[in-house]
Amino acid sequence: MRIIQIAAEFAPIAKAGGLGEVLLGLTRELIQQHHSVEVLIPKYSFIQPQALNQLKIEVPDYRCTEKGQSISNTMWSAVAEDCPIHLLEARHPSGYFHRDNIYGYPDDIARFLYFSRAAIEYLKLKGEPIDILHIHEWHTAACAVLLRSLYMKELSIGNVIFTIHNLEYQGKCAPHDLDAIGLDGASFLSPNQLQDPDFRYPQTINLLKGGIVHADAINTVSPTYAKEIVTPKLGCGLSSNLKKAKLSGILNGIDSKLWNPALDPFLAARYCADDSLAKIVKAKTANKDFLKKRYSLNWTGRPLVGSITRLAPQKGTHLIKEAIHQTLNAGGAFVLLGSTPDSVIHQEFAEIKELYKDNPHVLILFEHNEELAHQLYGALDFLLVPSISEPCGLTQLIALRYGTIPIIRSTGGLKDTVFDCEDGEVLLQQRNGFVFYEPTPAALNSALLRAFNLFRTDVATHQTLLRRGMQCDYSWKKPTQEYLSLYRKLSESSQKTRRSHVRIEQAGSVKNKII
Ligand code: ADP
Repeated sequence: MRIIQIAAEFAPIAKAGGLGEVLLGLTRELIQQHHSVEVLIPKYSFIQPQALNQLKIEVPDYRCTEKGQSISNTMWSAVAEDCPIHLLEARHPSGYFHRDNIYGYPDDIARFLYFSRAAIEYLKLKGEPIDILHIHEWHTAACAVLLRSLYMKELSIGNVIFTIHNLEYQGKCAPHDLDAIGLDGASFLSPNQLQDPDFRYPQTINLLKGGIVHADAINTVSPTYAKEIVTPKLGCGLSSNLKKAKLSGILNGIDSKLWNPALDPFLAARYCADDSLAKIVKAKTANKDFLKKRYSLNWTGRPLVGSITRLAPQKGTHLIKEAIHQTLNAGGAFVLLGSTPDSVIHQEFAEIKELYKDNPHVLILFEHNEELAHQLYGALDFLLVPSISEPCGLTQLIALRYGTIPIIRSTGGLKDTVFDCEDGEVLLQQRNGFVFYEPTPAALNSALLRAFNLFRTDVATHQTLLRRGMQCDYSWKKPTQEYLSLYRKLSESSQKTRRSHVRIEQAGSVKNKII
């Protein structure tokens, strides 16, 4: 089976969050299971050539049209993290991918629409048959629309799969944005096409909806999120489209090579699930001490809670703020590693940082820092994930692998992966964290206090919980099997459809002859 994935991210060379890690983890596991898979992403100027092996020009110059202008592109090929990847270098006058970050620019819609068209043009140029084209998020949803509208006869693609990693980001734009890449934008303004479901804005195009309407199969990244977003309350306006498209949920995994406390190059002390509890605890203490020294803090003897997150309302920022105060009141220490483009949210956290600037039990850092994230997973006692909605969430999975006990609000993928240590209805072996339900300070406080109580009064149970978390298998093995069975099911059903079309055509020609 030949699989091509087109996306905006691929970790670690181009990662903004979970999307890049999914592309890496799924691709690496598909390769491990002997499937042919390639990834296509933009060649962002911040990608370090040293991170790429066998980098070479694959197609020196091919053209893609935007607003009637012909733009030159180069397609590069390379191997990144053992995965074959293609990198689109667009010589676009606006320097679409010559930016410091992946997203966050006023022309993001134009950038990723252009990328989608240029990616499809490249596939056409290559002319090789593809069994599965796997596209991700609104950024590449237009590939499905382009294929159906303009390239149907020119490309041999078995099936298109569209994965929604976060329904909150939908790529809303104007019809003329589609015109720019050669589609007739106005012709997509109908309820069964790309018209945004918000009736107040009938002239709005919704790119994510384009993926839902035009792909052959749609999935999202956890079973609970799949159930949540087909309800009007959580469907962000698209619940009925998602229901009609028969959305399924496949839980994400984490890449076992990228996240491995036994080999992690960023950790001061390494450890693994098979080590004795004494060795694990000693290594985590050494990792705590390393950070304590580096940031001149003092949290000896205190439960260390952390949050490693994009600071967006969806992540429960009001609860994270609350948790900092509550943790200190209850005699703990707190580290926040968060980044946000939102100046209001930034200001709110900056005020808390100022309030505690002389407190040796608090560290608040506004940055995206991969190395520090690894060090924190290796040091924290508890990771707080109080999301309001969470498609899957990777931080709780990484935390489990690093012997950091998650404290989560029960929603989406968090609900599928973390089970409360006191929940008598869950098998003992599955209980791996602390869970609260209502998105309120009181519910959060009660979970935090239960965690601190265990940490202080029952070392044996606390450590058993820590080890049980490390033993959970949230690798890509099982999710990859589920993706493969989705790919196969689609291939089989399209073969059946093709066979029945051939039969109908043959029957028609026989009938014609008789007549
Ligand atoms: P999302 O994709 O919604 O941001 P996920 O939980 O799916 O959330 O994935 C987040 C990924 O990004 C994790 O690997 C996490 O460690 C990482 N991450 C989040 N914030 C930061 C940060 N400030 N610095 C470094 N890594 C971060």
